[in-house]
Amino acid sequence: MTETTPLSLDDARARLLAAVTPLARTEDIDLSAADGRVLVQDVIARVQTPPHDCAAMDGYALRAADAAGGGTLAVSQRIAAGQTAVPLAPGSAARIFTGAPLPAGADAVVMQEDTQSLDGGARVHIAVPVKAGQHVRRAGENVARGAVIAHRGERLLPASLGLAASIGVARVQVAAPPRVALLCTGDELVAPGSIAPQDLPPGHIYESNRFFLRALLTRLGCRVDDLGTLADRLDTTVDALGQAAQTHDLILTSGGVSVGEEDHVKSAVQQLGRLDLWQIAVKPGKPFAFGELPRAAGERCYFAGLPGNPVSGFITFLLLVRPLLLRLQGAMQCDVSALPLRADFDWPKPGKRREFLRVRRNADGGLDLHPNQGSAALTALHWADGLADLPAGQAVARGDTVRYIPLAEWLA
Ligand code: AMP
Ligand code: MG
Repeated sequence: MTETTPLSLDDARARLLAAVTPLARTEDIDLSAADGRVLVQDVIARVQTPPHDCAAMDGYALRAADAAGGGTLAVSQRIAAGQTAVPLAPGSAARIFTGAPLPAGADAVVMQEDTQSLDGGARVHIAVPVKAGQHVRRAGENVARGAVIAHRGERLLPASLGLAASIGVARVQVAAPPRVALLCTGDELVAPGSIAPQDLPPGHIYESNRFFLRALLTRLGCRVDDLGTLADRLDTTVDALGQAAQTHDLILTSGGVSVGEEDHVKSAVQQLGRLDLWQIAVKPGKPFAFGELPRAAGERCYFAGLPGNPVSGFITFLLLVRPLLLRLQGAMQCDVSALPLRADFDWPKPGKRREFLRVRRNADGGLDLHPNQGSAALTALHWADGLADLPAGQAVARGDTVRYIPLAEWLA
């Protein structure tokens, strides 16, 4: 159950992802509700865009050969976006606006700024040489008919929604939101709002993890049920977890995963199903519990236990629970990418574990380090805009290049 040899973060992730089967439940939803959801079916274009050759600029459509070196042409029609064009009379130009269909025969658009309207708009002077194809959007140049515009396993982002809408898609097939039960452990914890700061009993602290965990889960498309803090008894904990397992895909806990620690949640998971306690060679983080609880109808409820120290819990969530939840939704891409950036700090005494430091980009394009790298310092995480991913045992001197992972990418 307990692994004493530390696991590398990559091995832990690989084991976790191998153990997780994507949810079988899917939903057919309106595109307007699909932000952040994971497609379970390719989205295929039934039409091309643009549907026809059209103007990329406000100006005049013409045959390039009629004004290769500029010149003056009669204006034979006016085509606004949404209107249809008639074939262009030879030797003439059409007044045209962005997005309007090009008249048959025209092969170029001259932008308005390069022209002069004459005789109240009856003729136009073209002040520049014209090349065929200029300022024309070709039919299908954006999306060809039959193209896969978004793939199964892709997470829909705002631009994907716009692209899907542009080919007339109104509904998409996506993975159902994972149902997550959240519970925190720790007798020292007090819910903010339940006791005024001046009355906080000695030895107690306000609970913070529940709040960021809820937000992180929600951003990942989960439905969260807050099960609160469980009473300190094994039999009631077994009952509560056994029941939660029937209606949730993941039970996520915070606190109480240190080796040897007395904790009813761990014992209850062990009694009900399977529990592994991993020691991961990463800082902050290290202890992580992963397991599975039985559930009716052949489905599974996974269990993930995060360390209680707020920064450890937060970062372990990003490193391990986030990929787990994306995999549950069938996402193909569960990773975030790092950028090489210059460290404007020294880190002379590296530890034996891979370390994720709280850093922030500065105006010179380098990274500053927060002075408090403690695993409970939420101030540093609040200040940081990213993490520097340092290999185990590697010191950093000012000017070195380090791997920087923006928090925004993890939180998207
Ligand atoms: P644990 O992992 O339970 O040993 O907790 C490690 C440290 O994190 C202790 O100092 C706890 O008080 C603190 N901690 C645990 N859970 C929370 C929480 N939900 N909010 C704030 N701090 C916590
Ligand atoms: Mg505790």
